[in-house]
Amino acid sequence: MVSDGTLTPEALAERAAGNGVELWALTDHDEIGGQHRAAAAARANGMKYLTGTEISVTFANETVHIVGLGFDPDDAGMKRGLLKTRGGRGARAQEMAAGLAKVGIHGAYEGALGFVGNPELISRTHFARFLVESGACKDTHEVFRKYLTEGKPGYVPHRWASLRDAVHWITDAGGVAVIAHPGRYKFTANEEYALFLEFKAHGGRAIEVVTGSHTPAEYVEYADKALEFDFAASRGSDFHSPDESHTDLGKLPPLSGQLMPVWELLEDRIQ
Ligand code: AMP
Ligand code: MN
Repeated sequence: MVSDGTLTPEALAERAAGNGVELWALTDHDEIGGQHRAAAAARANGMKYLTGTEISVTFANETVHIVGLGFDPDDAGMKRGLLKTRGGRGARAQEMAAGLAKVGIHGAYEGALGFVGNPELISRTHFARFLVESGACKDTHEVFRKYLTEGKPGYVPHRWASLRDAVHWITDAGGVAVIAHPGRYKFTANEEYALFLEFKAHGGRAIEVVTGSHTPAEYVEYADKALEFDFAASRGSDFHSPDESHTDLGKLPPLSGQLMPVWELLEDRIQ
């Protein structure tokens, strides 16, 4: 990955193919710089490929992730938009480090930077790796729980792109926009309803149903919502690294047969 994963696109492709994946998309956060490498690596490993990304947007004071699939990876508008949304990460990271310093954890900005391939993409995941490496916590889940989620010392909210802009960047570049792991947001039923309707009004066409971030009960809940809102359904591992992710590439259950798989909307974009 070229954002906060630990494996290269080539290593991910090999791992996915080894696990039986037939159609793969690499979805780095707010970044599409790895797309040509990933497509080539998919080809080399006998898999079909769809371009991918996962864009952070702010909706109802919460960060929501919008996956883009099947867009043109060289689209100028999309590249410009992603560059703009990455712009705030450096300053936010400094604020996160200041918050951690107040509870006795020093040098976190420099420590986290040590884990980032791309300084524009410094994320909570990199802070989590630093806190594990320095012995402050035993694993990244403990870091998020104690330090990096709302109300905790290293948490700094950030305004990302708008829902409207993210959906338009993706669709204007020929892709399909997908709401990532809808079960992970702390929305009320009304807020979630507003998210789905607004997303759809902007041209969004799918939601993630089966993902490493959902429980089996949520697979059922969001399959029902996909049918209710007439969304296509997506399936994604949210795999970041062998040590941190509980779901490996290609190991999730299939989508229920009633759903329209998102890749059927993208047949002409499959490489
Ligand atoms: P950021 O974009 O800097 O807010 O960081 C987002 C990253 O943090 C994503 O890669 C998420 O997968 C990861 N993340 C968010 N919440 C958690 C959590 N509770 N446990 C582990 N990782 C998380
Ligand atoms: Mn996500």
